[in-house]
Amino acid sequence: MPTEIERQLEELLTERGVVAAGSGPTTILHFDAHQARLRIAAGEADQDHFTFRNPQRAATLQSTFPWSRGYVSVAIPYRTTLEDEAVVAGYAQQHSYRHLHATLAAAVSSLRASGLRATSLYDANQAFDKALARRAGIGLVGRHSLVMVPKVGARVVLGSIFTEEVLKVQIGRRFGVDPCRGCRRCVDACPTGAIRLPGVVVASRCIANILQQETWSFDDRREVGTRVYGCDSCIDACPIGWRRREPADLAPLVRWLREGDHELLAELGHWYIPRRDAFYVRRNVANALRNRGSLTYDERRALARLCTARDQRHRTEGLRSLLGVRWVRR
Ligand code: SF4
Ligand code: SF4
Repeated sequence: MPTEIERQLEELLTERGVVAAGSGPTTILHFDAHQARLRIAAGEADQDHFTFRNPQRAATLQSTFPWSRGYVSVAIPYRTTLEDEAVVAGYAQQHSYRHLHATLAAAVSSLRASGLRATSLYDANQAFDKALARRAGIGLVGRHSLVMVPKVGARVVLGSIFTEEVLKVQIGRRFGVDPCRGCRRCVDACPTGAIRLPGVVVASRCIANILQQETWSFDDRREVGTRVYGCDSCIDACPIGWRRREPADLAPLVRWLREGDHELLAELGHWYIPRRDAFYVRRNVANALRNRGSLTYDERRALARLCTARDQRHRTEGLRSLLGVRWVRR
């Protein structure tokens, strides 16, 4: 029988749109730390420090929360709002983590009000989100290395609540069979061949990671194609789950090229931008337009304006794109 605290928590999470939740004890994640170390040693982690900065700490939750005995892992679906997902990945289009943040905060407040010590984490390098979700049984790690939840697929954001007692929480169904059995659609859909083994994406080849790097090789510039932030090709190819669509807008590329640093970072502050330097957003936009091979009149004017910027890097990117595009469309 669930306790009153467990029942209240399940109710609160369900009301706030959590589609899957599970719980477990905060034991050491030896296997995941070992896997992370192997990938670092093999050079597969590249500059993806966010996930691989300190595997030992991410695996030993009690080094961050010594009082914690249990955790609850939750998954919330995110929506897609931009028309062209090949430009900005679905998970980056909205503050998908804002709702998760509010949900975790509400759950923590409710637990504390019941006299239980609790805190939460999401998208942080102190914990392996995916490993916690897998252990709590809320989903499986697919061949594309993302956690998939039954019926919803990988279009979810994950978070964890740490508690001083082990709670029993379960929301949503569990997979009965391995959904990846006999399927490799995500592998075939990956433009760069980054999915080398089931569940293993080579960071240095993954477009989502390349777009976050400060330095690019010639191949990087070409391989990212028309993408400005993130990549959804493997998720789109996956037959598990659905695609949630809102009324669509086009990505405002011209505005992003023209806008000042302050406004750009205020709008896109939820993206990972190297050193919080707005130049990297403009670089990605200019490169995407170059790879697209055609420009509208406004895009051409915005790139021409970039060519007169004080910052040499902007001038180089603007010029590179203008010279690299063959034709202009109205
Ligand atoms: S596309 Fe197929 S192999 Fe890839 S994650 Fe989805 S179900 Fe698994
Ligand atoms: S995000 Fe894109 S580049 Fe990375 S593994 Fe998926 S399809 Fe490949």
